[in-house]
Amino acid sequence: MYDVVIIGAGITGTMLARKLSAYDIKIALIDKENDIANGATMANSAIIHTGYDPKDGTLMAELNVKGARAYEELCRQLGCKYKKVGAYIAACGKEEEAHLDVLADRAKRRDIPFRFIDADEARKQEPALSQNVTRVLDLYTTAVVYPWEIAIACAEVAVGNGADVFLNNSCEAIERLDGGYRVITNERTLECKTVINAAGVFAEKIAGMVTSNVGFHITPRRGEYYVLDKDADVVRHIIFPVPSKEKGKGVLAVPTVYGNTLIGPNSDYVDDPEDNGTSDDGLSYVRGNISKTLVDVPLYRSIRTFAGLRPSSSAGDFVIEELSDAEGFVNAACIESPGLASAPAIADYIIGKFISKRLELREKSGAVMGRKAPLIMAELSPEERSEAIKKEPLYGKIICRCEQISEGEIIDCIRRPCGACSVKGVKKRVRPGMGRCQGGFCEPKVVDILARELGIDPTEVLLDPCGSNILVEVNRP
Ligand SMILES: Cc1cc2nc3c(=O)[nH]c(=O)nc-3n(C[C@H](O)[C@H](O)[C@H](O)COP(=O)(O)OP(=O)(O)OC[C@H]3O[C@@H](n4cnc5c(N)ncnc54)[C@H](O)[C@@H]3O)c2cc1C
Repeated sequence: MYDVVIIGAGITGTMLARKLSAYDIKIALIDKENDIANGATMANSAIIHTGYDPKDGTLMAELNVKGARAYEELCRQLGCKYKKVGAYIAACGKEEEAHLDVLADRAKRRDIPFRFIDADEARKQEPALSQNVTRVLDLYTTAVVYPWEIAIACAEVAVGNGADVFLNNSCEAIERLDGGYRVITNERTLECKTVINAAGVFAEKIAGMVTSNVGFHITPRRGEYYVLDKDADVVRHIIFPVPSKEKGKGVLAVPTVYGNTLIGPNSDYVDDPEDNGTSDDGLSYVRGNISKTLVDVPLYRSIRTFAGLRPSSSAGDFVIEELSDAEGFVNAACIESPGLASAPAIADYIIGKFISKRLELREKSGAVMGRKAPLIMAELSPEERSEAIKKEPLYGKIICRCEQISEGEIIDCIRRPCGACSVKGVKKRVRPGMGRCQGGFCEPKVVDILARELGIDPTEVLLDPCGSNILVEVNRP
């Protein structure tokens, strides 16, 4: 019997799995997808918000501030990217300036570093800032990360410490047992003492498997983005408009850890929790609204668009609680923004408030909480590169020309624990296909490498989820 089964391998579930794997308990992490982090964790603004925005007295405010403070050290341990680019919140006119004072007051009370800068000074740092901007709140400790890299790293650590990860396992039913639960997936049955529901936009459905009194309602809220080419070079800081009740944090410009720029998101409620495609209306809203804070944004340098779904709730706060009529069933639900920034603190909160009351948590001897980061050839010095190629010549065989990714790096990411099993899985881990040509040149080569490494026929290689086979037939001589 498992002590804990976590449903959902996004940032919430993987962060919790990593922290729990430090203890001498039996853990399983399941996800319906064939990879870690294919939900909201894969499609967001990637910002470690410092915690100035959530309202006083909310769980969001408490966990955002704590979570954000943990990230830099966490990313160091996990060998993940963390870039403190800073954020400008740009006010246009007196009314918005007054709102900046409210945010600054919150930041001060929460001990979050900030300063005000006048608009001309801000424009010297960010020449694309619009002349409409009259005052700027600079939250200079705000950082950006690569969210799915962190989730994958957390899952790797959990597996290294003995946790089981079952992908392609969709939770279809949950039965109550004496002192626990039976989680039934399309593939297996897992008995456990405690269930953590970290299923993102599907969390309401999962909770509904054990109670008729779920207590929250999730409506997916879509956010769409443009990704601009690296040399579009739009901004150095994250540029926010002043947030509003109706549209949340608004349309932003975000410099990513790898030097692209994200422009987005919009905020539109949708009915279907699988509906994460972009739309003409959504992207048109993004185009129209970025001009509030920035001028001449080169959207023609877009190399891709994407969308993510926020699990927006009627509660207006994270819902992290044990069901009143189902002891040992804990919801980590309605984890919308700033859920990424809050994730380390969400994990601590769940362990401290629920799991430690139910299970005896003894530290596991030999548990390792960090990992050896994957080799990134493009970031090595020429000497380090030749050293690596001497040991493994495939590190010298470039597969992705845009991002300079070698065959050796692709093979590594397939062979690691929770390794890539699709073209998108490889792209998430080592970036072939993330560059200007978006895989036009390297994708067939990645298909070949995946087929060889996984021991499957090229027609079985998936672009992304099950059923997304790329080739229907291979012409063999
Ligand atoms: C547009 C947008 C912008 C955002 N920007 C930011 C930001 O800049 N900073 C920030 O802090 N936060 C941001 N967020 C919020 C952040 O992305 C989320 O809070 C976070 O990713 C939630 O992680 P999660 O693990 O709870 O959910 P998810 O990542 O959605 O993971 C849930 C997992 O559950 C799995 N699952 C669902 N049903 C089942 C089932 N039946 N069986 C098994 N598995 C199942 C799914 O496959 C999925 O992998 C943003 C979100 C969006 C959408």
